[in-house]
Amino acid sequence: MVTYFCLNCWNKVDGKDAVCSHCGFSLTEYSNLSYEKPLILSLHSPIMNNRMIAIQILGELRSQEALPGFKEIIETGNDFYSLKEFYVLSQNSTVLKVKQ
Ligand SMILES: [Zn+2]
Repeated sequence: MVTYFCLNCWNKVDGKDAVCSHCGFSLTEYSNLSYEKPLILSLHSPIMNNRMIAIQILGELRSQEALPGFKEIIETGNDFYSLKEFYVLSQNSTVLKVKQ
C-alpha cells in the first residue's frame, strides 16, 4: 500500500483526493507546478531522504527561489547538509548574504 502525503502540510492524504483534507492544498495541480516548486515543498518533508534529495537538486540548480526555504531550515534547525548547500547557493545570490 502506498502512503501519500500532502506537499503543502505533509499530513497523510488519500491518493484519490483532489484536495488535502487538512489544509486545502490542491493535490491535482501538482503536475502543473514548475520544476522547482515540488522540490521546494519537499524541503519540509518529514522524510529526511526526500529533504536531502531536494536540497541537493536545488543546490545544483542554484535555485534562487529555494533560498527562503533554505534560510528557514537553517534558522530553525541544525541541518548541516542544508547549511552547506545554502552556503554554495548564497555565493551567487544578490538576495541574501551569509554572515562570515
Ligand atoms: Zn495539506
